[in-house]
Amino acid sequence: MARARHPRYHDNRRELTDLMRDPWAIACQSTSSLAIIHTGTGTISSTTSPSVDTTPDNRFLCEVVACHAALGIPRDYALTRSLPLETPPPFWIEDGVDLQGRPVRLAPEASRAFRALVDAARDAGFVPVVVSSYRSLAHQARLVRQALDRGQPLEGVLRRIAPPGFSEHHSGRAVDLSVAGEREPLTEAFEDTAFYRWLGERAGGFGFRLSYPRNNRAGFIYEPWHWAYRADPTA
Ligand SMILES: [Zn+2]
Repeated sequence: MARARHPRYHDNRRELTDLMRDPWAIACQSTSSLAIIHTGTGTISSTTSPSVDTTPDNRFLCEVVACHAALGIPRDYALTRSLPLETPPPFWIEDGVDLQGRPVRLAPEASRAFRALVDAARDAGFVPVVVSSYRSLAHQARLVRQALDRGQPLEGVLRRIAPPGFSEHHSGRAVDLSVAGEREPLTEAFEDTAFYRWLGERAGGFGFRLSYPRNNRAGFIYEPWHWAYRADPTA
C-alpha cells in the first residue's frame, strides 16, 4: 500500500520506523532545509526554510532528526529501545510554578488531572513540589549536550536523559515530583518519602502512573519521581 506523502505521526514503533526511512525526513538533515545552530552555551535551535512543509508534526520530526544528528545519536537509536515519539501538545496550561520558579506547563487534560491530584495531596497534608513539567526539544537537547560536554558516554547519558523527541516531558503529560523538605530531588531517596507512598496508592486514581520503575522496558534508570498522565490507563 502506498504511503501518504504526509502521514500523521502516532506514537508507535512501526510508524516511527517508516518515518526514519522517509526520504523527506532524511533530506532534513542532509540539505540546508533545516539548519542547526549550536551556540557556545550549548543551545540548539533550528530554522526551517519556507519551502519546507512546516506542519507541526513534520516540523517536530524534522527537528528530532536534526537534533540527533547534531548530538551524534545513531539514527536507529530510539528504535532499538522501542521508544515512542513524544509529540508536543498543540497548547498547554500553565498552573503554578516549579522548584525553579518556572511555570508548570502541562497539556490541558493532564493539567486538570494534576490539579486534582495536588489538591488531594494537600488535603492529606503533603506539599507537592514540581521539579519539571513540559520540556521543549531544545531544552532536552541542551540537557544531553551538557552531559556529553562533561565527558559522559552517550549510552549512559541516554539512560538518564531521554533522547530529544522521546522524552515524555515533550508531551505535556509528565511531571517530575518532589515534596517540601526533600533535600535532594530527583534521587532514588524519593521512594522513602511518605509522599511517594501516597502517590503509589492514590496517583493512579487521577490517571498518573510511574513511567520508569526498576528494570523498566524502556531502559531508563529507576525514576521514582517521574509520573505521567494517561487518559486511558490501558493504553
Ligand atoms: Zn521526568
